[in-house]
Amino acid sequence: RKVFADRIGRIEVSATMAVAAEAARLRAAGVNLVDFGAGEPHFPTPKHIKDAAIKAIEENFTRYTVVPGIPDLRKAIVDRHACDFGSDYGVDEAIFTTGEKLALFNAIQIMVEHGDEVILPVPYWVSFKDIIQYAGGKVVFLETEEAQSFRITAAAIEAKITPQTKAIILNSPSNPAGNVIDGADLERIVRVAHERGIYLILDECYVYLNYESKPVSAGSFGWAKEHMVVLGSLSKTYAMTGWRAGYALGPKHVIANLSKLQSQQTSNATSFVQKGAIAALAGSQQCVEEFRAEFKLLRDYMIAALKTIPGVTCTVPAGAFYVYPNVGAYVGKGGTKSATELATKMLHEGRVVVVPGEAFGTREHVRLSYPVTRESIDEGVKRMREFLLNL
Ligand code: PLP
Repeated sequence: RKVFADRIGRIEVSATMAVAAEAARLRAAGVNLVDFGAGEPHFPTPKHIKDAAIKAIEENFTRYTVVPGIPDLRKAIVDRHACDFGSDYGVDEAIFTTGEKLALFNAIQIMVEHGDEVILPVPYWVSFKDIIQYAGGKVVFLETEEAQSFRITAAAIEAKITPQTKAIILNSPSNPAGNVIDGADLERIVRVAHERGIYLILDECYVYLNYESKPVSAGSFGWAKEHMVVLGSLSKTYAMTGWRAGYALGPKHVIANLSKLQSQQTSNATSFVQKGAIAALAGSQQCVEEFRAEFKLLRDYMIAALKTIPGVTCTVPAGAFYVYPNVGAYVGKGGTKSATELATKMLHEGRVVVVPGEAFGTREHVRLSYPVTRESIDEGVKRMREFLLNL
């Protein structure tokens, strides 16, 4: 009898995590790397958030809590969202999870069955595809145009809808390309999904990292609540990646089913992390503003640096904290046959960590995460330029 169930064979190790593991291996062997691989802020978690969690531990807030999160936290989640985006979710329409990735994984698990189709715009965050496939769903890729900043329109989505379509995943601002769906396009997409009874899964991981316009959330379209699951993360907004803190907002019966699944899985997210999350969501939002301002400067610095590499072009990302340059002019040189081979060679010979575009569904790009120091940007892009020009 075979050991493993088919479903584990349907997914791969997250490419970003695989890159991180290889980089860690080289670093441990003494190789000096510039790391544009990690998708996380380089800031420490703000003090008031750390203090709240430390206080919770000291006060022995270290036992199981109710599965979907303590009431004060669920209230802080819906209040924050209402205040920033004008949404109208009740406390029982929110669940706190061990990172947004778990909220996403579970939302797909409770909704997607074998043969169901899920529409996924390209380029996409690496985990969406595998999480859909793990549930037995079929990924329907929606190609976008780089020349149009990877814009996603309602008409393009409509063209992909079939009787098997169960859900559509949107991630705006997106990882990896930083493209943002504007309010008008978003409303049209929400309308299409709502009218057809298709679920929109809205990944708002980077919603606060929007550099060109006021952030919008589909959660503000209350008339379509029935067909939306909004997913949020504290990871990037508050520099809390390691805490594992995320949430889902949706109609009561969806949240009840997420809670049911979570009750047989992680139970509650870590008790004192919940207290830290309350401090983050209900406390001063000045840190969010400061992070965003610095990321915007770093984005511009990175874009300017990349312009010094002949043949590399890059759409200016409107949000998130990645750039997604097109390195197609170099794929094929130096014996490389793909962006993955180029990125691997660049890691070993150029000593720069980037994630190849194949992980995100495109063939000519690499992703660079820019929450690093300016010195690292200077040094890393210099290494990239030298590596590429000598291929
Ligand atoms: N969604 C997107 C688009 C992401 O890029 C990430 C993390 O990289 C997540 C979700 C996961 O966030 P969390 O750390 O809350 O699990």
